[in-house]
Amino acid sequence: MTLTRHPQRIFLTLILGSYFLVAQEPFFKAAEGSYWLSTDLHIHTVFSDGAVWPSIRVEEARREGLDLIAMTEHLEYQPHEEDIPHPDRNRSYAIASSALGEDDVLQVINGSEITRKMPPGHINAVFIKDANALLHTDSLSGIQEANKQGAFVFWNHPNWDAHRSDGIARLEPFHNYLISNKLLHGIEVVNETTFSEEALALALENKLTILGTSDIHGLTDWAHEIAAGGHRPMTFVLVNSKTPEAVKKALFERKTVVWYNDLIIGKKEEVSKLIEDNIHFGTPSYAEDKTILNVELTNASSLPFQMEYLGTYSFHQRSSVFTLPPKTTIRLQVKTITKKQSIRLPFRMMNAVIGPKQYLEHEFLVK
Ligand SMILES: [Zn+2]
Ligand SMILES: [Zn+2]
Repeated sequence: MTLTRHPQRIFLTLILGSYFLVAQEPFFKAAEGSYWLSTDLHIHTVFSDGAVWPSIRVEEARREGLDLIAMTEHLEYQPHEEDIPHPDRNRSYAIASSALGEDDVLQVINGSEITRKMPPGHINAVFIKDANALLHTDSLSGIQEANKQGAFVFWNHPNWDAHRSDGIARLEPFHNYLISNKLLHGIEVVNETTFSEEALALALENKLTILGTSDIHGLTDWAHEIAAGGHRPMTFVLVNSKTPEAVKKALFERKTVVWYNDLIIGKKEEVSKLIEDNIHFGTPSYAEDKTILNVELTNASSLPFQMEYLGTYSFHQRSSVFTLPPKTTIRLQVKTITKKQSIRLPFRMMNAVIGPKQYLEHEFLVK
């Protein structure tokens, strides 16, 4: 029942006791006609302070089943400049793009990390047209130019302890200026190996898009133990078509859910949708002489869901808290005392974060 989640491979999966061939299995299923696309919008190579050539980033992302990555070199910080001088700051993107094959599911977009002291700190601009035009001596002009190019602009690692010794993300007047002038559109709630509840609060209060990125400098396999089943932080974007334009539009519309370790993080609306798309109850039944309801519960996603039942029934085999493993169907036995045509089962999804210390509560109708 467990299967690999790499979409470039074809593999066997066990569904309802039968084997089917499944190609391009997504991390998270979406409703008919829509997709939860996997993205990483914050990536470095030797063209700033990263350790690898851009083509390695493409190969990593391809192996990890990503749909879209952004190359976001530091504009102002160029520690390899003597060995790799590159007056054209679009080179990382150009090389990564040329490493794509015709059949690649993966797409690459151009970006930059505008690298300033706090405030405003580090700002990523993705879907840019020309990175060179973002280079300015002051902190505002590059952000304005990115917006002129139609870029999606977000604040990187607002909790970074090099900028915030207490690790608390908070806005400066500069950020308020950017937000009120619609120059800043998103914020990293997850960066590399950190999750910031304060950044999540800022995102919700200021209507900024919730993002999680790898900010990878070395190898993702070393940082996230991919071979052992780990994954880099990703932002899932809900789109109707698999084009960069659709991803950009959905980012501006704040239709994202972050996947970080065993957490998903997002606005209630998107997290609810992702759960409805991926957790399914089957048709309930009773043995003729018993009043214990039997029902199958399927998790179509790559995330193990930690579930806490909030209702008054008790289960025959489990406590009210259990883990629903990824890509798996389990049986739930509910002691309903009398036979019911349908029941409602309210759960708290303990690893589905919708606000600081807030976890999604969702009622499933079983019928
Ligand atoms: Zn940075
Ligand atoms: Zn970075």
